Amino acid sequence: MLGITCYSTSTIQSLNPTCPYSSSSIISTFHRPQIHSISQSTRPRILTISNSRRRRRMASATAVNAGSSPSVQAEVGIQNQQELKKGIADLYDESSGIWEDIWGDHMHHGYYEPNSSVELSDHRAAQIRMIEQALKFADLNDPAKKPTSIVDVGCGIGGSSRYLAKKYGATAKGITLSPVQAERAQALAAAQGLGDKVSFQVADALNQPFPDGQFDLVWSMESGEHMPDKEKFVGELARVAAPGGTIILVTWCHRDLSPSEESLTPEEKQLLNKICKAFYLPAWCSTADYVKLLQSNSLRDIKAADWSENVAPFWPAVIKSALTWKGFTSVLRSGWKTIKAALAMPLMIEGYKKGLIKFAIITCRKPE
Ligand code: SAH
Repeated sequence: MLGITCYSTSTIQSLNPTCPYSSSSIISTFHRPQIHSISQSTRPRILTISNSRRRRRMASATAVNAGSSPSVQAEVGIQNQQELKKGIADLYDESSGIWEDIWGDHMHHGYYEPNSSVELSDHRAAQIRMIEQALKFADLNDPAKKPTSIVDVGCGIGGSSRYLAKKYGATAKGITLSPVQAERAQALAAAQGLGDKVSFQVADALNQPFPDGQFDLVWSMESGEHMPDKEKFVGELARVAAPGGTIILVTWCHRDLSPSEESLTPEEKQLLNKICKAFYLPAWCSTADYVKLLQSNSLRDIKAADWSENVAPFWPAVIKSALTWKGFTSVLRSGWKTIKAALAMPLMIEGYKKGLIKFAIITCRKPE
């Protein structure tokens, strides 16, 4: 694990880390958000956030009406939300079968120890390790904190839902935009005798079909990068979390901006733009942007870490598997969207190498 950043009241303006990592005590609590902008560097374009529920709702409505989201509703990304949702659904409808065939039921990065030697056969274990490391980071390995009801936001073919339901004996509900994924996820659950524990449906993470306060674990593993309105996304994660519940968000971010920067460089935006088009992503945001949004929803114990080094072997491994005869012919057979995504994979490696793309984990807790 690389650096962990914890956030407290005093740092909200600057978002500098306040508590240096120590293995036993790494959490600091955020109490009452006093922030008034999401990102200093983009202040003119963004919303005011206050701790007042009423004002927050108004801010949120403004965001939706204006079609804008945090600091990052920007120059990169697919801006039309309907087009974006359709693209995401089609991409996963088209490509999930191949992915499962070659990589199995987890559609997320593996977690590797930095500089360890990596075998191709280790990747499934590395994907499980990602789940376990995320739970450990959120302090959910403590049996006393066992979740009993879980929502898997952007569930793919339900790998995390089934894994977590089995591990904790919990119920899990998964949502995805892809009908093919929802159906496959349910079939796999039934085949594994989990039909009464886990269920899947097509639904939008920005408008979740659940009442407030339902889940003691809100899990979003690599779906946040697809969300066109990060403020609404985080608001929904917070809304469906039960009092005292944990939110685990693992997602692609762009690097944090330095205080003197207004935005990413034109070259950086150009690279992200190409990735956005291939993977159906809207504008990106930074880890610091997410932290501010969590703070504005009064969430506590916010912790963030950059796991970019821990996932470094992942994309080279995916490319290697796509270049096998089976991988190559499957990608070619699957359709244009999958081919485009496959061709963009080296761009992810470039983004990580340049320090532009960050693989972030961010966890927090909803107050009791
Ligand atoms: N979490 C899964 C899959 C990650 S792939 C895993 O780890 O295996 C990204 C997933 O996010 C896909 O299932 C996609 O359908 C889903 N997704 C993207 N945007 C979404 C949205 N607005 N609402 C619900 N799901 C969404």
